[in-house]
Parts: sequence; structure tokens; C-alpha cells
Amino acid sequence: MKEKHPGSLFITMTNANTKTTAVIPAGGSGRRMQSSEAKQYLLLQGTPLLVHTLRIFQESPVIGDIVLVVPVNDVSMIQSDIVDAFAMTKIRQVVAGGKERQDSVRNGLAVLPADCEIVIIHDAARPFVSPALIEKAVDGAVQEGAVAVGVRVKDTVKKCDGEGRVMDTLDREQIWMAQTPQAFRRATIVAAHQKAREDNFYGTDDAVLVERMGIPVRMIDGIPDNIKITTTEDLAWAECRLSARKL
Ligand code: C5P
Repeated sequence: MKEKHPGSLFITMTNANTKTTAVIPAGGSGRRMQSSEAKQYLLLQGTPLLVHTLRIFQESPVIGDIVLVVPVNDVSMIQSDIVDAFAMTKIRQVVAGGKERQDSVRNGLAVLPADCEIVIIHDAARPFVSPALIEKAVDGAVQEGAVAVGVRVKDTVKKCDGEGRVMDTLDREQIWMAQTPQAFRRATIVAAHQKAREDNFYGTDDAVLVERMGIPVRMIDGIPDNIKITTTEDLAWAECRLSARKL
């Protein structure tokens, strides 16, 4: 049996010989956070947000190595203050990011190790990704070629114009909110980013770059906790969430 229903857990185990590299975009400037510091460096329970995320990949048995993408002026600081200071031994390279997230991911893809077969891309700003979700995404990419983690919507979804006038009510059974991680066969995601660059197409995730090549992408069930820390409210929620875990 492969699966119970669309998006459900993949039952087969990841092939232990499949070499997987994680690309972690952490090259944002955190413009939506009222802070002079980029959000990936803000402290959560006294430890930088970025470290919370990296630890989960560092400890995952399905991750071979990590390419970390950071703001262009931070490369050497990150190497000493994060990679060395927190003994992130799986980080094979810290590379400079670009203007948009998509540019940063592309810079990460440019330094993939020669033997990498699967690439899993995950926002540094999502520290609540679970080890099980990483394994599920990697398994999915091995079997299906391209997967994105997401959550199904519970509310009714309206499509509106700029003034808030409803144009359509969408079938919520078909609507998912895409998160990261997203995982792909290496050749697929590299080709998709290359094509997007040629076409000067910018998307809001990596999966859309694959979709526009006509390659199917499978959504798999994520966890609602896996939020992207975007605002100061999100950071406060994250503090509460981590405190509750310790109780
Ligand atoms: O800006 P946004 O919240 O969509 O960023 C999602 C992730 O992409 C974050 O981890 C952020 O650091 C990263 N990013 C990046 N390079 C950019 C912009 C965002 O690596 N130019």
C-alpha cells in the first residue's frame, strides 16, 4: 500500500543510499518585522531563530548535507557565529543570497555537491518543521519527483478584486496553503530555476517553478504549527509554543 488518500503519509522508507542536500534560504532582510535585525537572527528562547531550524536538519538522518544561504554581507559572520559556534557539521557551504528568495535559492542550487540526488528546500524562518515532515518530504521526492508540504484550508475561500468585492467562492476541498519544506529530484529543481531565470519569472515558492514546466507536484499534509515567522506576533507565538513544549 503506498498511501491512504492524497497527501497522506508515504509508507515506504527513504532509500538510505539516496543523497539528499537541504538548501536553507536565510537571506532575507526581515522588512516586515519591526526590527533592525533580520528575523532569522532574532532570539527564540535565547537562541537565534536560524539555529532552531538548522538543528532539525543537522539531526535528521535523511539529510546528507546543508547549503545555507545568507545575506551577502553576513557570510563570514554566519560561518563563525552560527556554523562553527553551534557545530553545524552538515553545513558544507554558506553562500550569499540574492535580491528575492528565488535568487537566494538559485545561488544555493549552484553549489550542490556532485553526488546530490534529492534537494529539500526549507525557509530558515520556519523553525517548527518536524523531523517526520522532513522524512516525509524526502520520501515523497524519491517516489514522485516533486512534493510540497501544505495544509488544507478549513475556512471558506473567496477570490476578491482589489476593493474586496467577491468574484468567486473557491471549492475549499481543492485549496491547500503551501509551506516548506518542498523537495525535488535535483535535475528537476535545477532545470525549473534555470527556466524561471531565462523567462524572468518570479514565483512565491519553488514548486510553482516546477509546475510551470508541466511537471506534476504532489502536495503532502504538513502541520499547522509549521508557520513562517514573519511578524513580531509570530515571534511571540513561537516563544509561547517553545515554553509550552518544556512544561
Ligand atoms: O521573505 P519571506 O518571509 O518570504 O522569506 C522566506 C525565507 O526566504 C526566509 O527564511 C528568508 O530569510 C529567505 N529569503 C532569502 N533571500 C531573500 C528573501 C528571503 O533567502 N532575498
